[in-house]
Amino acid sequence: MTTVRVATFAGPGASPVIREVPRPEVPRKAALIQIGACGVCGTDLHILKGHWPKPLPWPFTLGHELAGVIVEIGPELTHDWSGQPLAVGSKVMLPPLMPCGTCYWCTHYPETANKCLTPVYYGRYLGFEMPPHLWGGFAEMVYVDLEELPGTKIYRLPDDMPLRLGALSEPLTSCIRALSRAQRIGGFRVGDTVVIQGSGPIGVLAVAAAREMGAGRVIVVGAPEQPRLALCRRFGAEATVNLEEDETPEARIMHVRDLVGGYGADLVMDCSGHPSAGPEGIEMLRDGGTYVEMGQFTDAGAILTNWHRICTKDLNLLGSWAFTANDLPQGVAMLDRARDRYPWYEMQTLFPFTEAGLADAIDAAIAMRTVKSTIVPFEGLG
Ligand SMILES: [Zn+2]
Repeated sequence: MTTVRVATFAGPGASPVIREVPRPEVPRKAALIQIGACGVCGTDLHILKGHWPKPLPWPFTLGHELAGVIVEIGPELTHDWSGQPLAVGSKVMLPPLMPCGTCYWCTHYPETANKCLTPVYYGRYLGFEMPPHLWGGFAEMVYVDLEELPGTKIYRLPDDMPLRLGALSEPLTSCIRALSRAQRIGGFRVGDTVVIQGSGPIGVLAVAAAREMGAGRVIVVGAPEQPRLALCRRFGAEATVNLEEDETPEARIMHVRDLVGGYGADLVMDCSGHPSAGPEGIEMLRDGGTYVEMGQFTDAGAILTNWHRICTKDLNLLGSWAFTANDLPQGVAMLDRARDRYPWYEMQTLFPFTEAGLADAIDAAIAMRTVKSTIVPFEGLG
């Protein structure tokens, strides 16, 4: 291949356009990674709906849940972030943006380096004004250059891990980190009852993460029944509450409290992003319980009428925004360890890397006909 095909979007609402760009040279600390699979994320959908609060370098390539294989590598790019050797043929994943490692936040608060002031986008983005940037997984390849962007982090995947599975490591890591935050303050212990709000891909992965990390019981509130709530139960949710059946917050709170029994859930985690999830979820908790907010990251429509209940119920309230560089190996390791314990592949609906395939994948995700639309550019590689 002397050219690389990448999909770009001209702006919110635009259809994907596949373009060919010259395959770049690979300097001594750079690599070209052929994409095996790339998931469509809720964040991609937000961006395509025009919800992103900051200006974006349109037209650009979306897709950040990617796993691929190194097809060309410079002689001085020898190891991944965790110190594992890298070579042509290594399977890897890349997170979408990475802590720089040198700003005030990265150096003073490494455990919250997810709030890095100058996060690193890999690819030919910085210093390259014209797209495409070989950043973003809706493409045949992405490009990394650690000399140009030393904050770039590559994570090697196990050799026998299918790239489709590896493409789930980024969203799974977000769930692990959110639960780890609760663990750290004593808000999530072995045997605890966990309620997950939201049955999208993050909700489904949160079920697996909660179980792997010791939850006793997991209950999910979401919709629709097919394919999402049914899959949550396949992942081990003991019960699900359907938003389309229990239409009011009061009905949902009563239904969940009835399922949970006792004094309420020990931990409630919002993976839905719905503006009313917070006030509703707080009422599902026992007094002294812990609430983790990882779904709502825009202020669109926020309504928090019972915010005082955080006080009167003596709650722990935690936000969890993405993850840091040190969280990612846990996501890869959990997928590897729990490979046969969950129906991971049933999450994914595969689409080809064509303009029609990309458009279908996005439409299906918006309409919730899929749990995780996943682009597979090369048949047999994903
Ligand atoms: Zn930083």
